[in-house]
Amino acid sequence: MQRESIRMFAYAISFDEIKVYLSKGYYNGISSKFYLKDLETNEHKLLNGDDGQEENGFKTYYFHTEFKVGRSYRVSDAYGLTCFLSFDRLPLCQDFDDRFAYDGDDLGSQYTPGATTFKVWAPVSTAVVLKLKSPEGAVSLYPMERENRGVYYIRIFKDLELYEYTYLISSNDETVESCDPYAYASTSNQRSSIVVDLKKCRRKTYDLPVLESKTDAIIYEVHVRDFSVDPYGELRHKGKFLAFSETGNATMLGYKTGVDYLEDLGVTHIQLQPINDYATVDEDHPYELYNWGYDPAQYNVTEGSYVSDPNDGYRRINECIRMIENIHKHHMRVILDVVYNHMHDVNDNALERTCPNYFFRRDEFGNLTNGSWCGNDLNSTAHMCRKYILDMCKRWQVLYGADGFRMDLMGIIDIETVNGIEAQGREIDPSFMLYGEGWNMGTLPQEQKAMIDNNRALPNVGFFNDYFRDTIRGSNQMEIKGYTSGDTYKTNDAIITMCDYGKFSSVEQSINYVECHDNATTFDKYSICNREEGEAAIERRCLLANIMVVLSMGVPFLHAGQEFFDTKFGNVNSYNAGDTVNKFDWGRRDQHIAAVETMKALIRLRKENKCFRYNNFDDMHAHIFINNINHRMVEYILTQDEGQYHEFHVYINPSFDTIGVDIDDDFKILMKAEDEAISNHHLDVHGISYVICAR
Ligand code: CA
Repeated sequence: MQRESIRMFAYAISFDEIKVYLSKGYYNGISSKFYLKDLETNEHKLLNGDDGQEENGFKTYYFHTEFKVGRSYRVSDAYGLTCFLSFDRLPLCQDFDDRFAYDGDDLGSQYTPGATTFKVWAPVSTAVVLKLKSPEGAVSLYPMERENRGVYYIRIFKDLELYEYTYLISSNDETVESCDPYAYASTSNQRSSIVVDLKKCRRKTYDLPVLESKTDAIIYEVHVRDFSVDPYGELRHKGKFLAFSETGNATMLGYKTGVDYLEDLGVTHIQLQPINDYATVDEDHPYELYNWGYDPAQYNVTEGSYVSDPNDGYRRINECIRMIENIHKHHMRVILDVVYNHMHDVNDNALERTCPNYFFRRDEFGNLTNGSWCGNDLNSTAHMCRKYILDMCKRWQVLYGADGFRMDLMGIIDIETVNGIEAQGREIDPSFMLYGEGWNMGTLPQEQKAMIDNNRALPNVGFFNDYFRDTIRGSNQMEIKGYTSGDTYKTNDAIITMCDYGKFSSVEQSINYVECHDNATTFDKYSICNREEGEAAIERRCLLANIMVVLSMGVPFLHAGQEFFDTKFGNVNSYNAGDTVNKFDWGRRDQHIAAVETMKALIRLRKENKCFRYNNFDDMHAHIFINNINHRMVEYILTQDEGQYHEFHVYINPSFDTIGVDIDDDFKILMKAEDEAISNHHLDVHGISYVICAR
């Protein structure tokens, strides 16, 4: 209904004040009196006060009066015109949480064979009805009872396993149908939630060694669908969670694919792009559209297009569990990419439907804020929104086995919430890792944002280090070179960022990367900014960048395919560009086996030698020396008092010139790009080359 066609409407604007709007097109908006009628008790009272004010074609009237939130009331004017009193604006009040925040851990559906309990937090609704659909299709409705703090409750004494359900949430005469924001499973495309028996959703645990220091992690980012969709990779479950539970696969050339390949590579953490339910891909026709999944529809269930049957409640949970389980079995941990900054559609999701005007940030006029540039921002500072984020993080850890989270646009979220996730995560699992995109975005006061500049307030949280990326690789502008693409004016910056004492409160906070799913691949960028050098030189430069990522102080982060110079054919924002552009290209991998072997050797070097993994500034000061040679070459010297070698020299030379250095003859070259050799206390490092030696 168009608001302009309504002659009268009324809102509770605080817990003892209502505001009535009368159209100027109706008796000039003037009424000599108003009444409020309680439809449950029939009590009828005169509202005192107020001659009305002009507001956008309406006269508005304010009245202080008592009412009970959740009950139906009608307001009437002097001519007998009536309207319902709406509570939908109350969630905008500062003291809303004082009255309605609910800390119970029993929201959602709790199944036992004898009975299932349903609880939903819907504080400003006037009625909630549970709609149940049996597996045979019979629909039944059960009005729920309102309890304390706006929680609606019902227990059904019947075996409801695999029943579908929704909530019919009423605000007086208007009703919306909503999934359960705490449900464990849903039918395809968010049509309904499903009751499941969690006893049938158990995971095997594997004892991985405790992650003593975050600098021991080597993170590898991959997208579920991309990983297996290329037929050349010979994975059976293309585009599905289950592709990660396969083992023993190889390409026609005999090189391992799937999780076996990742284990061989030596990375420690697999970061999966979002695997919770997102909106854009039709789960019933998953190959019509492609999306990365940064458009969350439900935080509480897995994405159906990754499941072999999106309507099967158990597969939806268990296929994801099998995926994570198998990654664990192969001695790697799993980080989930979580998008707790915005949702795909405010109006079409269970959070807004169960409690309007609460879960998304609003400005002082009640309009949605748009710090995410996606149309809305999750309201993480609201008590129940923060609780929801924490409850969901716990679920992904406990039920699914996630070992950490990568937070998308973390700067939009408040520090208290992010620290809360970290503390909760670490309590469940001492090896828990949390890091995110700490860009300065959104509408929170600066001091509340979980952004890089506030890293000292988030001491256990990591941040994508964009200074590292921009220095080593060059910024996201395709034409701008970084150090490894040959801008040797950045040699000093490269030295600073490889061993940075100033940017973060702890070296464990620095997530060092040159490539991630966003923006161009390094190869594509260098194909533009170094185009005149030819492909071999471009690949060599990509290799220099990879070396600096893996060997720098901090936490190395790699994007799937970075080890074999992956291309997205120049696409700089391929979030919906389809499989051809985004797929993990197992064929290209096979063509670059030497580069893959180099990556493996680098990873092994890092893992076997603690000097590449120091986790505090004192050790770094004592054991790391880094020099600028000839204003072009980085000389990175690391020492340690254990292991096969006690001193390493890493030379990175992105210039075209051969650069000579003095070095003792007892150094042994471990890795190099060309035919460099040490003789007579001298080493010549060729142009666009590197040498790693040790003694
Ligand atoms: Ca979906």
